[in-house]
Amino acid sequence: METARKVLGKHGPTLLVLGLGACALAFFLLYWSDPVNFLAALILVGITWEYVRINQKSLSLQQAQWEQQNRVVLRFGVKRYQGRAQLWVANIGKTDFLITEVLVRMKSENKILRNERRIVGSGSRETLALPDKLWTGISLISAFDVQIRYESQHDSGFSPARAFTLLVGANSGVINIRRGIDDTWWVSCPKCGQLAASMITEGLENFDAAADRQRVLESELKATCPDHASQWADSVEQIRQRREQQKPEAVEED
Ligand SMILES: [Zn+2]
Repeated sequence: METARKVLGKHGPTLLVLGLGACALAFFLLYWSDPVNFLAALILVGITWEYVRINQKSLSLQQAQWEQQNRVVLRFGVKRYQGRAQLWVANIGKTDFLITEVLVRMKSENKILRNERRIVGSGSRETLALPDKLWTGISLISAFDVQIRYESQHDSGFSPARAFTLLVGANSGVINIRRGIDDTWWVSCPKCGQLAASMITEGLENFDAAADRQRVLESELKATCPDHASQWADSVEQIRQRREQQKPEAVEED
């Protein structure tokens, strides 16, 4: 049924034109001696054609509507709560979904998986705990990225990964949370092995984007060794300029 619909969807108009052409020819041969009947038959064919066309249009409209209603649409972020960082997940779609996994990455570790089973109803927001190791025993800055795996009756998948940076106080309490990676990201030159540059982390959405930028930086360091010049290498002057331009970001708290 599904395949038939796909084939029809793709070749439907061509098949229709061919079919209608054949019908018109048959009618012409049958009624050519009778112009009035021929005209009536022609009008009938025209009406049928229009009817089929409109039906197909409303069918594809219905399908688009169905897809939109059953698609999972979520937003998520990290907020501060009693000196900890928490994940919030909002469902702004029309269908309920289940969070099945929270994937957290730190620069020093591989993925930390958290199996979560939490239903987020349409139009509501849930708060989930994040791993303690993101801030316990951390001195000052902790960057990580989060990805959510979800499932609904007709849809399943992963959210895009999103990076956050925690500012951690002396007693392992989270003081501030920023979007993106706001940490020094040292990169070695692949040719001489020297710790050659601190990568500009501005505008990076997640750790995959950081890895992509790091590859570009490494190839430029290698090509310019031993001067180690790169468009993505941070200088003290650049860091200072950026800090001055940076607007304080709103931190969510409750
Ligand atoms: Zn080098």
